Amino acid sequence: MDDNSFYAIRDVPGKGKGLVAVQKIKKGTRILCEEPIIITPQGEPEIPRLRVTVAQQVDALEPSLRQAFLSMRNIYPHENSVEKLYWGIFQTNALPVENGEIASAIFIEACRINHACDRNGQKRWNDNIKKHTVHALRDIEKGDEITICYLGVDMGRDSRMKTLEDKFAFVCSCRLCSLPAEEGRESDRRLDRIYQLDGLISRGLAFGALLSSPLQMLRYVDEQVRLYNEQGPDDSGLPQAFFDAAQIVIANGDLARGRIFAERAVSGWRTNSGSDCKENTAVDEVPSELEKGAFEDWLWKRFVPQREGQPADLRNRSSFPGFSDLPTDGGADRMDIFQDGVADDPHARPRHWCFLAEIVDYSLLLRLEMELKDVNEEMLPLFFYTEARGNELAPEDICRGYTVAVLDARHHKFRWDRPDFPGAVAEATGN
Ligand SMILES: [Zn+2]
Repeated sequence: MDDNSFYAIRDVPGKGKGLVAVQKIKKGTRILCEEPIIITPQGEPEIPRLRVTVAQQVDALEPSLRQAFLSMRNIYPHENSVEKLYWGIFQTNALPVENGEIASAIFIEACRINHACDRNGQKRWNDNIKKHTVHALRDIEKGDEITICYLGVDMGRDSRMKTLEDKFAFVCSCRLCSLPAEEGRESDRRLDRIYQLDGLISRGLAFGALLSSPLQMLRYVDEQVRLYNEQGPDDSGLPQAFFDAAQIVIANGDLARGRIFAERAVSGWRTNSGSDCKENTAVDEVPSELEKGAFEDWLWKRFVPQREGQPADLRNRSSFPGFSDLPTDGGADRMDIFQDGVADDPHARPRHWCFLAEIVDYSLLLRLEMELKDVNEEMLPLFFYTEARGNELAPEDICRGYTVAVLDARHHKFRWDRPDFPGAVAEATGN
């Protein structure tokens, strides 16, 4: 856990355990950032195989994590074999891992967060840092329960109730579901219209209405934004609506409005997902000194081999990846990024990359050990299993705030790996 000072796991009346804010949490705060303890292989559709993978991972957990997993809710208790029991708990609690492929995972704390249709937290898998994050959608008061929404789309009260009961076996009693009859119907009408507008806008974007009837399209988005705001403050659907509006006006040459809508969309996404979830640049961060070809390479994020003597671009994540993006020893993963040209081209030249991390702390007892922080703010230990156990480095080169550089670093799976630390980097050089 990176930071658990915002919440505590407490009993919540009628809901079992839940996460409760122990201090006021400001809108946009990253409340939780957590690695999975169990994760399904991406794109594996076969349930029997998924059950086996999950059972293997549960058996490999250290006792306290295994106990925590087994104490989670299971809405499929009639299943009798151990494998099916694990699968029941997994299905009841798993959260989606959204990175283009279908996968899901168990997180010790994120999976404890209860549902509310008018949730105050936004859950998201952040594929850049390979962690699940929850951000405050609005200010959360001390003592408030932190909630996320288990449903994929906005729907009316009856449909929500039915889906939650069918899939998660509980009756929702959130603010939205407990509204007095007339207000409840009003809220349902808004959600139905938001859903209908979603259809009109996406069909319009797909079939050219943004050019043939741009004003009508903009009216649809305007109405949707108004309905979101009537529904409650800071709805998580707003960034997409602003992005739709940006596309409509930019397609019609209106860059002034396009910029404002695009900035509102990005600002909303940052609030929901943090600034490390997407590549963040300011509108004026455009390189001005590049020649035309080099400018196009920058624009399309093409990998271009460096010429000799040319300074490396430290922001290039394929040359300077974070720890979680390093290739695995002996594995074929991500080799497309780690080679020149196309992955299946037999003439592709291997290329080099460099793992950089800041020395946060170090100690020199039996051997040199460092606490590092990488470009994704991920913390990891570095142990020197060299002949001189790290003594080959001059003492003045070992300093907090200095940078460690590891050329062509790879993940290596050690047999003594802790589950929360999947690998280590092999060779280490310089400062
Ligand atoms: Zn509800």
